Amino acid sequence: MDFYNPSLGHQFINGQQVLGQGPKIPRVSPATGEPLLDVDTASTEQVDQAMKAAAAAFTSWSALTPGERSDHLLAFARELQLHADELAEVETAQTGKSIRMSTEFDIPGTIDNVNFFAGAARNLQGLAAGDYAGNTTSMIRREAIGVIGSISPWNYPLQMAAWKVLPAIAAGNTIVLKPSELTPGTSMLFAKAASDAGLPDGVINVVSGDGPVVGTTLVRHPLVKMTSFTGSTPVGLKIMSMAAERGNRVHLELGGKAPFVVFNDADIEAAAHGAVAGSTINSGQDCTAATRAYVHFSVFEKFTNRVAQLMDAMVVGDPADPQTDMGSLISKAHLEKVSAMVDRARQDGARVLAGGRREQRAGFYYRPTLIVGAAQDSEIVQNEVFGPVLVALPFETDDQAIELANDTPYGLAASAWTKNVDRAMRASAQIQAGCVWINEHILIVSDMPHGGYKASGMGKDMSQYSFDEYTNVKHVMISHDPQPHRQWQDTV
Ligand code: NAD
Repeated sequence: MDFYNPSLGHQFINGQQVLGQGPKIPRVSPATGEPLLDVDTASTEQVDQAMKAAAAAFTSWSALTPGERSDHLLAFARELQLHADELAEVETAQTGKSIRMSTEFDIPGTIDNVNFFAGAARNLQGLAAGDYAGNTTSMIRREAIGVIGSISPWNYPLQMAAWKVLPAIAAGNTIVLKPSELTPGTSMLFAKAASDAGLPDGVINVVSGDGPVVGTTLVRHPLVKMTSFTGSTPVGLKIMSMAAERGNRVHLELGGKAPFVVFNDADIEAAAHGAVAGSTINSGQDCTAATRAYVHFSVFEKFTNRVAQLMDAMVVGDPADPQTDMGSLISKAHLEKVSAMVDRARQDGARVLAGGRREQRAGFYYRPTLIVGAAQDSEIVQNEVFGPVLVALPFETDDQAIELANDTPYGLAASAWTKNVDRAMRASAQIQAGCVWINEHILIVSDMPHGGYKASGMGKDMSQYSFDEYTNVKHVMISHDPQPHRQWQDTV
């Protein structure tokens, strides 16, 4: 691998890959449990250098025309494409996700995102214009905010970096990104590819390290004008209160607990396949993963039998093998968390119809798991497991299904399975989530917004809507009244 040389460091500051001067974090391979590498982290001084580089780059980057920024992004996409295979290998090595997933989903998804924002950058300006107050012309300017501090999680390291960085820089901001301390490799490579493609120094900076030290330094830094965060709800709430100390804007993409509603007229074979794909994607470490299947009682047994059969047939194992359906979980600690939650559900009387156990091999593998008989208010139904675990519960009426679907603190994504258009429309209106799929669960595209309701956060990633997060909207009013102040002058 020429492109990735971890010994050169995981920081990318002002156009240079550099070694972090903070403490090293030892990482083991999720696939084997063997030592992988000691990841360098940024010192507080390096975070400060990255912020200053981003602030210095802001003046000229924000002054480029949208077309110029778009050209930079198109070159960036081409550069990423050149390194697609290596990016996929690094992504799989650091996360344990299957190479098929990295190759067919993460890398193309990221490149598509860069291309999307290359186009979107040119469609940012010049909205309303008109006479709204008599003899005036109004117009709207969308202006870049400044330096964005961004924090991302480990589940889709490259895609999450892309979702944070692209709308920010397409709109003319500059950014300092802190990826998860577990997975900084591809985020650093993302910044390096941008630099190799000719993006000016300081536009994208990456500092790696833990949350409490490096993350906190980034959120509280005086040069940061906004924090965008993807991660868990408890950490997101902490970030919100830290940003509030300085009156800064936040954009939060947080946890999820997606419902998967199967009505009695659904195509059960399609729904069963959708449930397995939706609950096991990325080993279930996906904020939109299907986690709670509410199934009409008349089709409950047929659906759960088929889901269990499909789950049992899944190949779980070596992420580097293209035949593998599902790789490992991210770490030993996370495997233990998932396993303990399933064990507690069992102790509370739930039944496991598939999986419910580790895959017996070195590394951190858990079998796709289907649980029935859990109570709606139990931990396994209410809390994020973030593993390949689906809980199925029966319902009787449509109203009850919607009520159960809405009965968690989260509201990121949901799906409803039916052939009846009225039911589909009612479900899409009544389910409280930022995305409701009908007869699908998981498809995410660059052109459409992604973001939660309730405890799943605020604001949107991707699509033209993400510019609402990363721009200030300015109203400019021009008077062409020959006597503009006469109404006030008459009274004084
Ligand atoms: P996490 O909240 O533990 O960590 C996310 C990031 O925050 C990491 O970079 C971490 O270092 C940093 N961090 C932790 N504590 C911090 C602190 N006190 N101050 C500043 N930064 C801090 O989440 P995770 O375990 O990395 O990721 C899994 C979570 O992310 C799940 O809850 C999942 O649902 C969520 N997620 C949400 C979306 C979405 O789009 N809504 C997408 C992916 C993941």
